[in-house]
Amino acid sequence: MVKETGFYDVLGVSPKASPDEIKKAYRKLALKYHPDKNPNEGEKFKLISQAYEVLSDPKKRDLYDQGGEQAIKEGGMGGGGSPMDIFNMFFGGGGRMHQQRERRGKNVVHQLTVTLEELYNGTKRKLALQKNVICEKCEGYGGKKGTLQTCGSCKGRGVEIKVQQIGPGMIQQIQTMCSECHGEGERFSAKDRCKNCNGHKVERKKKILEVHIDKGMKDGQKVVFHGEGDQEPGLEPGDVIIVLDQQEHPVYQRQDDNLYMKIEIRLVEALCGFKKTIRTLDGRMLIINSPPGKVIKANDTRCVLNEGMPIHRDPFDRGQLIIQFLVEFPEKHWLPEHLLPQLEALLPPRDEPLITDDMEEVDLEEIDGSYTKQRSGRGKPSFDDIDEDEGTSHGVQCQQQ
Ligand SMILES: [Zn+2]
Ligand SMILES: [Zn+2]
Repeated sequence: MVKETGFYDVLGVSPKASPDEIKKAYRKLALKYHPDKNPNEGEKFKLISQAYEVLSDPKKRDLYDQGGEQAIKEGGMGGGGSPMDIFNMFFGGGGRMHQQRERRGKNVVHQLTVTLEELYNGTKRKLALQKNVICEKCEGYGGKKGTLQTCGSCKGRGVEIKVQQIGPGMIQQIQTMCSECHGEGERFSAKDRCKNCNGHKVERKKKILEVHIDKGMKDGQKVVFHGEGDQEPGLEPGDVIIVLDQQEHPVYQRQDDNLYMKIEIRLVEALCGFKKTIRTLDGRMLIINSPPGKVIKANDTRCVLNEGMPIHRDPFDRGQLIIQFLVEFPEKHWLPEHLLPQLEALLPPRDEPLITDDMEEVDLEEIDGSYTKQRSGRGKPSFDDIDEDEGTSHGVQCQQQ
């Protein structure tokens, strides 16, 4: 039991979430609420970063689970990193040294939604971006060379001082960036200013990036375009980082290089064998076969070797396809009662309980949510967790039969 769930709620995950689920939740929310994309949601971005900072660190997460936000504060473990630092650390530029950072423009992170089929088969996707490029006309100078003048409005200081009365007899001086020269201290007169960029030195241009999605790439994987960020005079441009975001697939779930699926079979198939077809992510048809004599129990798993996801950079090799079987039982009264003894004669024998006079016979009722709630006050018991986990533990070992 955790003390409070605030940080989990911010990320939209359960307190039982795995480190991977927490990472994924942060990734999606941080991209959505990043000030570049959503300038009005700065507070939300801060909360997401704070929650992630705590929950991504096993020690801090333990402390939070036991003592809540208060314990984090008292332990001096909160608010270590700024939201931007956490974001930059998470998305990173990929292989570049940090000491160059001051001289570089910032990285731009975009999310690209891809299907599981695209990650399986590989594809190319075109992405149109708007970016700042150095003005072609004035080569980033902003106007006619040699005509730059000291700004008359701020006398070259780049700032303006405004005096404001904030109360009776109280005056506040506010320093603001000079609006005439945008803090540069120098400006071009209207006639010398570059007409193409209006003196801004850069212009907005559309750029098409071609993103190569290789077979076997994963949800959350980054494709980095070095130096494709916004251009600015005197700065080395930052990178454009594309983060792949895999859509849920209606049939297959992916876990590392393995694919998981659930197949419903009838009781007769579970007991007497079956043949079924499966469509693979590249459109081939597989036939799976459980021969007569084998029994598939509810939630049993089986695997098909080399039919999972292609391994990234080694795409001729593939993970496993792991199939969980759900057994569909017949409805009540499916067989006239007088025929049941015939069926029973074929089935393995039952165990007869030893019944004595001091025992009490009770009725078995169908569970109805409102009934249990009223009587026990504990709500309907949840069987979901049991069903989900049984037989499909993530590290499931697949053996050839
Ligand atoms: Zn000025
Ligand atoms: Zn220009």
